[in-house]
Amino acid sequence: MEVVPTKTRIALLASPGMGHLIPVLELGQRFATHHRCLVTIFVVTTDASTTQSQLPHYSSYRDLLDIVFLPPVDVSDLVTNSMAILSQLVLIMRHAMPILRTEIAELKPRPSALVVDLFGTEAFEIADDFGMLKYMFDTTNAWFLALSLYYPHQDETNKHDHVYLHKPLNIPGCAPLKFEDTIDPYLLPDDRVLHDDYVKMALDMARAHGILVNSWEYLEPKTLKALRDPNLLGRFSSVPVHPVGPLIRPVKPVGNSVCRSKVLDWLDSQPAESVLYVSFGSGGTLSADQLTELAWGLELSQQRFVWVVRPPMEGSAFGAYFHQNKRTEDGTPAYLPDGFASRTRDLGLVVEMWAPQTEVLAHESVGGFLSHCGWNSTLESVINGVPMICWPLYAEQGMNATMLSDHLGMATRPREVGPDGVIGREVIEKVIRRVMEKDEEHGKLVKAKVLDLKHSAEVALAKGGSSRGSLELVAKECVTGLTGLRERARGA
Ligand code: UDP
Repeated sequence: MEVVPTKTRIALLASPGMGHLIPVLELGQRFATHHRCLVTIFVVTTDASTTQSQLPHYSSYRDLLDIVFLPPVDVSDLVTNSMAILSQLVLIMRHAMPILRTEIAELKPRPSALVVDLFGTEAFEIADDFGMLKYMFDTTNAWFLALSLYYPHQDETNKHDHVYLHKPLNIPGCAPLKFEDTIDPYLLPDDRVLHDDYVKMALDMARAHGILVNSWEYLEPKTLKALRDPNLLGRFSSVPVHPVGPLIRPVKPVGNSVCRSKVLDWLDSQPAESVLYVSFGSGGTLSADQLTELAWGLELSQQRFVWVVRPPMEGSAFGAYFHQNKRTEDGTPAYLPDGFASRTRDLGLVVEMWAPQTEVLAHESVGGFLSHCGWNSTLESVINGVPMICWPLYAEQGMNATMLSDHLGMATRPREVGPDGVIGREVIEKVIRRVMEKDEEHGKLVKAKVLDLKHSAEVALAKGGSSRGSLELVAKECVTGLTGLRERARGA
């Protein structure tokens, strides 16, 4: 009787937030379709039902993947208002570890590999105990990965000058980190919990069998080279780095079906590339003053727009990240300026809380994206050839904004911030016009740049492309498992 070989199972772990879950699902889907693996995805949430309802085409993922929502983690009694988002995520993930261990122990066949995102590296202990290969999937870019791997080993004088004198932080072989783009561990130098969490994360990822990154060779050649160079960042970690991106959720055709969003219907009746899409990711929020200025800036620019709005939040730029406010009834939200809806009725559409973003960005009427520069939003913009206006809010978004505007030239960033930290309406009006108006030279340049990057992304993902090849290599390692990897290392 012919013995049918058992398929390899790979387990993936996603931390809270759509920006982590979507790329993890996409990676899992590639393992299942291109490499015929069994894929189990463990999802950690603080609110599983909202996550499921926001996940577009959830059922089509379920057809291919075994998706396990772990019981929602409640750490509300341990979280303080001033706690950094990184520490909150680490805390939530830590609380999910015991149940994850039980779930993995029960899986048959036992997974040969565990792939976690940035916040799941504590699960490597479980992978070690079960003899699994361990991979970290960096759902952002190689530059942020470089900073993270460098963090525990950084030059103390350089760190001091960055934190207290606001000088750029030099990351070996990479573009320096400007203070205006810096991340929480440098903004909150006295937060020991945050420092320790970040160090642990970085040291954990350095002992993975491989790091996958949602980027591609053409986008970040210098940084990827530095990561692999034993005289630069390779000094701190010899983990192979595999750029496998851009992995984003593809647009699924919905035609004229009843579940088609009203945003898409509205976009259908607008001229090509005339609409600015405005959105701050899955959890970004603005202060009341900033929200008012943005509304006025949009109105003054006289450009068409779709704006995903959320109630204002003071003192936190990620106010809706863990706890989405439920949608309210349609109509102008009370927190927008008086009369905004009636004055912009023919110009724009306001959507509360959530929009089908990939479908919006793929729509031919959309010609620009004002974004918080979350990495998934960025990749979705590139893949659809949509130039961006950068409006970073938290985490590594400032770095992303600099990469997009200064290094890659596919975006514009408003620089003039008022003394109160608010970007004024005239600045907003100007930056929108620069990107959206057809006769603006700058708009043409950023458009050409984004189209070049779109093309390079398509090449990287196609058969024979660099990202496709990287993923094939990782999948092969997963199939041979720890034993295969050891045998190969002995033979080498
Ligand atoms: N997203 C969406 N609709 C929204 C807001 C966000 O579909 O109204 C999706 C978006 O397409 C992206 C993800 O949520 O895939 C947000 O990820 P990103 O990395 O851009 O930002 P984060 O939410 O992690 O800050």
